Amino acid sequence: MAKMTTQDYIAREDKYGAHNYHPIPVVLTKGKGVYVWDVEGKRYFDFLSAYSAVNQGHCHPHIIKALKKQAKRLTLTSRAFYSDALGEYEEYITKYFGYDKVLPMNSGAEGDETALKLCRKWAYKVKGIKENEAKIIVCENNFHGRTITIVSMSTDPDSYGGYGPFTPGFIKIPYNDIPALEKALEDPNVAGFLVEPIQGEAGVYVPDEGYLKKAYELCKAKNVLFIADEVQTGLGRTGKKLCCDHEGVRPDILILGKALSGGVMPISAVLADDPIMLTIKPGEHGSTFGGNPLACKVAIAALEVIEKEKLAENAARLGEIFRSELKKIKSDMIEVVRGKGLLNAVVIKPKNGKEAWDVCLALKDNGLLAKPTHQHIIRFAPPLVITEKQLREAIEIIARTFDQFK
Ligand code: PLP
Repeated sequence: MAKMTTQDYIAREDKYGAHNYHPIPVVLTKGKGVYVWDVEGKRYFDFLSAYSAVNQGHCHPHIIKALKKQAKRLTLTSRAFYSDALGEYEEYITKYFGYDKVLPMNSGAEGDETALKLCRKWAYKVKGIKENEAKIIVCENNFHGRTITIVSMSTDPDSYGGYGPFTPGFIKIPYNDIPALEKALEDPNVAGFLVEPIQGEAGVYVPDEGYLKKAYELCKAKNVLFIADEVQTGLGRTGKKLCCDHEGVRPDILILGKALSGGVMPISAVLADDPIMLTIKPGEHGSTFGGNPLACKVAIAALEVIEKEKLAENAARLGEIFRSELKKIKSDMIEVVRGKGLLNAVVIKPKNGKEAWDVCLALKDNGLLAKPTHQHIIRFAPPLVITEKQLREAIEIIARTFDQFK
């Protein structure tokens, strides 16, 4: 049989898979550290890191070792029984982030759903809001995942269009807008404020300095839970362990996902203290795979890598270099460069009918993978294990690519 080409692989996915994504036309078969290889043997810098799930780099040996070791021993018990791995992980992650308890789930969306349920339970059992009347404030242009309740909070028609009826109980306010939050908090039925410390999917919108801190203080004054979705911004990505750490804010409920497994499997977690977490009783929430022994060992290894290899520090240092070098590129297609740590974006001004998608295709041809978000924004988020030398090589590719559009 003839060897399959890139086009053959793409045609097969197109024929047998649902059309809910529009990938860059490259077919990957291997990954190591900051690099991925396509089926024709070409190597690329990965500047998406699976939407920040691969902070530790592809197939990190420490994480893969933990995965293999546990995979041969015990992978799933369900929560019908105890396992020797779950408690070890729970102790490790709660001490790592300084919370009383963790609730383990799988996808980021499940983490968000869990946080919303927890917030509502707390509203009725602790805050004393009348049953079914709790409200949660969310921000416009948010991205928290794809479930019906989560798209009910969305203001992006691509996310919510055609999926109604929607879950009620959300107040949508502009992001980075303290007066709007203050006003929304006047409603006594508000139980929580759910926020991304930087809006990643929206195009890496970094709020004003002091926004998170002020928002947190306003929530405290009204006995409202500050819920941080750090699924994309957490775990070293923005130059600190958590993005909220930049402002010394400790969320009441913290949601993690993506890089919690280093990209090996879906692992998410919700962290909170006892007065919040213990409002959910046995049988009231769960997941067959949440907290499985394999995930527990993988997550411990993934967190160890972040700490041992000082990935947050690396992201902070290299992020500065990345943005300052990108700002030096002379191109009338670059409108704005923004970001924090190694979560960055370039806003593209279309030229002669060429837009962000075309730039990404050219980047691919030149050996670097990135993906547009919202048509005109390119996110640049390499694995945090990237070295300065590799980063400078990647910057050269980006500069050369913009040159081609002159
Ligand atoms: N929350 C944020 C901030 C995200 O960026 C994402 C995914 O991009 C999610 C939640 C959803 O995570 P998942 O795709 O694992 O459900």
